[in-house]
Amino acid sequence: MSHTRKTLAVTTLPLWINGKPTPASSDRNTDVFNPATGEVIRKAPLANKDDIDKAVAAAKLAFPGWRDTPPLKRARILTRFRELMDADQKELVRLISEEHGKTLLDAAGSLQRGIEVIEFASGAPHLLKGEHAEDVGRGVDCHSLLQPLGVCAGIAPFNFPAMVPLWMFPVAIACGNTFILKPSEKVPSTALRMAELFSEAGLPDGVFNVVSGDKEAVDALLSHPDVAAISSVGSTPVAQYIYETAARHGKRVQALGGAKNHAVVMPDADLPFTADALIGAGYGSAGERCMAISAVVAVGAAGDTLIALLKERVSKLKVGPGNQDDTDMGPLITRAHRDKVKGYIDAGAAEGATLVLDGRGLTIAGHEQGFFLGPTLFDHVTTDMTIYKDEIFGPVLIVLRVTSLDEAIALINRNTYANGTAIFTRSGAAARHFEHDIEVGMVGVNIPIPVPMAFFSFGGWKASLFGDLHMHGMEGVQFYTRTKVVTTRWPINEERKAPTLAMPTLG
Ligand code: NAD
Repeated sequence: MSHTRKTLAVTTLPLWINGKPTPASSDRNTDVFNPATGEVIRKAPLANKDDIDKAVAAAKLAFPGWRDTPPLKRARILTRFRELMDADQKELVRLISEEHGKTLLDAAGSLQRGIEVIEFASGAPHLLKGEHAEDVGRGVDCHSLLQPLGVCAGIAPFNFPAMVPLWMFPVAIACGNTFILKPSEKVPSTALRMAELFSEAGLPDGVFNVVSGDKEAVDALLSHPDVAAISSVGSTPVAQYIYETAARHGKRVQALGGAKNHAVVMPDADLPFTADALIGAGYGSAGERCMAISAVVAVGAAGDTLIALLKERVSKLKVGPGNQDDTDMGPLITRAHRDKVKGYIDAGAAEGATLVLDGRGLTIAGHEQGFFLGPTLFDHVTTDMTIYKDEIFGPVLIVLRVTSLDEAIALINRNTYANGTAIFTRSGAAARHFEHDIEVGMVGVNIPIPVPMAFFSFGGWKASLFGDLHMHGMEGVQFYTRTKVVTTRWPINEERKAPTLAMPTLG
């Protein structure tokens, strides 16, 4: 079929500073692709230090007024923002899918999970209540205040253009901070749309700013004296760099890193149910999820049946553009990333794993320039192979075989990553043993992608998170506030005592 395509001028996006679109002063920019067609659809500015200085100055200026805005009033603006996000879902989902490549259904699910964080943050008046104790000493009371930090910044990855930023900024802003979001330069548009909606909801200018950029912008944020805290999500080397650099500059930091998430499949599991769950967790979003299951650990007799069930299901998956109704799995984010994932499949085959389904060589008619790769399945993978050791971040599911649950747990606990994991079993005892002994931050029992709800906190362990506090939930509130403890006495004349230099104690 031949068709003509209109050539539209490619525009460069603005930054969002002080409540309005602002052209970048940097003359550097980068191409933003539609991964399904391989076409450049717009350009994202790569902010420089001047741009960051401008955003930080706006956020700093807005801070005192926002800090002193009662939490209930802040919460009402957040509620209005949530309503506007709900009303704009179709456009947001379209933007997410267009720049990332994921299916509309998947984009909608991730957006929903992000919106739930706004819902959580709308409880600000309750979340920010401190503690109070009467009579900590005779006539002495004590209470604590949770106060905002100041200007906070967030650095986001490409794979969740809405959800990951939403893990950060609604909570930070609900707590009375102002915020600068640096979205991934590969998917810049959703963040700008959210900034417009937040402004429309009544957020004062300067409270939320969006600055697209790369390492130059990140470095300017990490070393800026007026930035109090950094939240970041990305690959492990970048997370570690951000954590160390920001900490060296005296900032509070939470830096979430990469992952290699294992699912243990016990022989007593409901295997057809498990295979369905693993397909979604392994190939959803083309494997570009930090909570994707990328390694299946099959225990004993589970292996052969599971491989047969996976093979049958995976070969039926429909790969295509994310905005097509019948598509199960879209393209990868860039050509370079698609080629890198292909290289991992080459390596897996060369290192002796059994290639059950090979996604290399797939082309999609009408989308020959798209960054597609078919779903790939490996069996008999061992822990010394590159496809096990590295985070692939693509539609490649690997199966390892072990003989017992203890062996599975030991294998997972040896891995440097520890973001999410799951066990599939009908045995409560096996599930409890797994839950207790596994050294991973987020655990699913017959749940393949155990992403905690907004009112719990999200975060991994080991090389999957640098810092002490996880995102959203009460750990998010803790991260974006500092505690002040006030001890109060209102002396009555008769109770006055002689002065003492001793450390005050009870009584
Ligand atoms: P990335 O590490 O390449 O980039 C993350 C962010 O850091 C981007 O905003 C990018 O512009 C910036 N950045 C990139 N290189 C930098 C550098 N050298 N110095 C400073 N900043 C830099 O990650 P990505 O490819 O956008 O996203 C995929 C990665 O993110 C995967 O490893 C995935 O596991 C991880 N991720 C983790 C979680 C989690 O919750 N742990 C969630 C989503 C994604």
